[in-house]
Amino acid sequence: MVKLEDIKTVTVVGAGTMGHGIAELAAMAGYKVYMADINMDILRSALERIRWSLGKLSERGFLRESVESVMSRITPIVSVTAEGAFSEDLARAVSESQVVVEAVPEKLDLKQSLFAFASQHAAEDSILATNTSSLPITEIARAARRPERVVGMHFFNPPVLMPLVEVIRGEATSDETVKLTLELARKMGKTPIVVNKDVPGFIVNRLLGRLMNMACFLVDKGAATIEEVDSTVFYTLGLPMGVFELADYSGIDVFYLVTKAMTDRGFQVVPCTLFEEKFKAGKYGVKSGEGFYKYPEAGKFVKPSHKRELAGKVDPAMLLAVPLNEAAYLLRTGIASKEDIDIAVKLGLGWPKGIFEFADELGLDKLVSTLEKLKAEYGLAIAEPDPLLRSMVAEGKLGRKSGEGFYKYVAVEETVKETIIVRKEKPIAWIVLNRPERLNAINPKMIEELDNTLEDLEADPEVRVVIIKGSGRAFSAGADVTAFTGATPIDIARFSRKFQQLTLKMQYLAKPVIAAIHGYALGGGSEIALSADIRIASEDAIIGQPEINLGFIPGAGGTQRLVRLVGPAKAKEIIMTGDFIPASEAYKMGIVNRVVKTGTLDEEARSLAMKLAEKPPLALMMAKYAIDMGYEASLASGLTLESSLFSLLFTTEDVIEGVSAFLEKRRPKFKGR
Ligand code: NAD
Repeated sequence: MVKLEDIKTVTVVGAGTMGHGIAELAAMAGYKVYMADINMDILRSALERIRWSLGKLSERGFLRESVESVMSRITPIVSVTAEGAFSEDLARAVSESQVVVEAVPEKLDLKQSLFAFASQHAAEDSILATNTSSLPITEIARAARRPERVVGMHFFNPPVLMPLVEVIRGEATSDETVKLTLELARKMGKTPIVVNKDVPGFIVNRLLGRLMNMACFLVDKGAATIEEVDSTVFYTLGLPMGVFELADYSGIDVFYLVTKAMTDRGFQVVPCTLFEEKFKAGKYGVKSGEGFYKYPEAGKFVKPSHKRELAGKVDPAMLLAVPLNEAAYLLRTGIASKEDIDIAVKLGLGWPKGIFEFADELGLDKLVSTLEKLKAEYGLAIAEPDPLLRSMVAEGKLGRKSGEGFYKYVAVEETVKETIIVRKEKPIAWIVLNRPERLNAINPKMIEELDNTLEDLEADPEVRVVIIKGSGRAFSAGADVTAFTGATPIDIARFSRKFQQLTLKMQYLAKPVIAAIHGYALGGGSEIALSADIRIASEDAIIGQPEINLGFIPGAGGTQRLVRLVGPAKAKEIIMTGDFIPASEAYKMGIVNRVVKTGTLDEEARSLAMKLAEKPPLALMMAKYAIDMGYEASLASGLTLESSLFSLLFTTEDVIEGVSAFLEKRRPKFKGR
């Protein structure tokens, strides 16, 4: 059986919108890549696009080698002969590859003939993956000699930037094939989820299809206007785009045709004519200059100005109830796990929360009654509440308000400040950097609020551990440079000093501080994370000190703390190149303590915090001081400090408790006295 380490060569068939991006990802992951298409002109333009994209990635510090060395791993090949048969070159490429990924046009007969050909030439255990958006994997696999090695590997456009990959199991796909495809997707820097059955639309397009369809239906019925729906979706739910705005942006024709392909395969939707009318009138959205909104010219996207006062004119439950019902169906029937469905909407659609998290917030009872209402008022069969929702409501699992829904909740005390949210979930306190629209850029107000918050948390004996994280798409993309405009060097020095004092306060807080990092932690964001005691990153985290690209250097401890973690050579490389360090590499360098699956960061941070919260608080504080201060001193002074703190702890009640619990073989209860 092929293992991840055995994969050396990947063939990508089809070098169009998706194929060239997949080839680029495979080459970036270090594989030798054959990229196949029907003629050299298409291949040349695909190579150009890849080179351009690699150049951009390199400029932004995402590439850890030269553009040329990545390019040198890609070999273009023509996949068909003049007569239209598959070529010898393709046969050779496939026979040399451990993985073939297909991204040819969405035509079943074409994909089937390709899989029949590829499986004749491929080694026994190589993987044949299809990037299809709407065709069943099972039907494509039927044409292959070893359907158990055929799998769906659904990338999103553009593959290089979109973090999600849906790995779809056909009826015959083996567990090893799924496992290896997941590993490969991770190796290519993506976060994969498993879809256990090739239902139309898989997860992302299926849930998005439901949301679009409901929005369309409500407008069609006169229950809401386009602007009301979009303002509610944008402001109240916090999705990155309104529903109709997204349709315009991606192309109404694309949505119309994808939905049609799904309904042709049995996906039931409620009747709604809005999309069809626009499609037939050629009003495709941004690309044609008009769709649901008007644009200054074809191809030029200008974000429609959604009106805050219209937000909430539509009950968000009316929009989300049917998509949630679908998600409940996918979960109940084992098509995907709760975590994977939530990751799918977060990474595939950019939602700030998973659909089950939304459900828990809106309340499951409310969602079920909304479904009943949709059923009664409009006779919608798809609004029949899923048995899972009904049983959860019957058991009193209503979501956040009842302490449990799809997830479990504990009592929280939340204080929303201008730039941060402080959530005390005792014994843990969360500090959430909360300027999501600016990727949590750090401004003087945030520094002041963080500073005051740390004082408060230090003084609260019921808070044992602090976790700091970002809201929205990032931990923090750095200091808000707009705050520097017009500032004198003295103003900047003050800002830097204040920021540095904040990082010192965090480092020497008398309780453990965990930084939970997702998305970007850049510049000042990275410096905050570096002053925490422990850093946990999700797979999508990217850490960096890119100040050099703006003409300056880190000013809040970056040059000092990074060197203590990774040594001078690595620290210099990171700071002098300004490169972005992906989570996996940051882990290898020792910048982060561990990397966890995207979507599980809060859970992982919480479980580590709970573990620390059970430890003796005074000993935790002394351990912090012995390590941090001892590290700055000579060995002899460090050792002296250690023994002083060590002996001091023997005056505490916690030591008596710890030793007696040990002798009595029970769990100790430390009080911090
Ligand atoms: P595309 O039209 O941009 O590219 C398809 C490429 O395949 C073209 O360059 C074409 O010349 C080539 N091709 C045609 N016949 C071929 C053959 N016999 N051998 C080799 N190459 C051949 O299409 P796309 O948007 O890249 O879509 C490809 C696949 O990816 C489809 O299955 C689509 O459903 C899926 N997909 C598309 C998107 C998207 O947003 N575009 C997203 C996810 C998945």
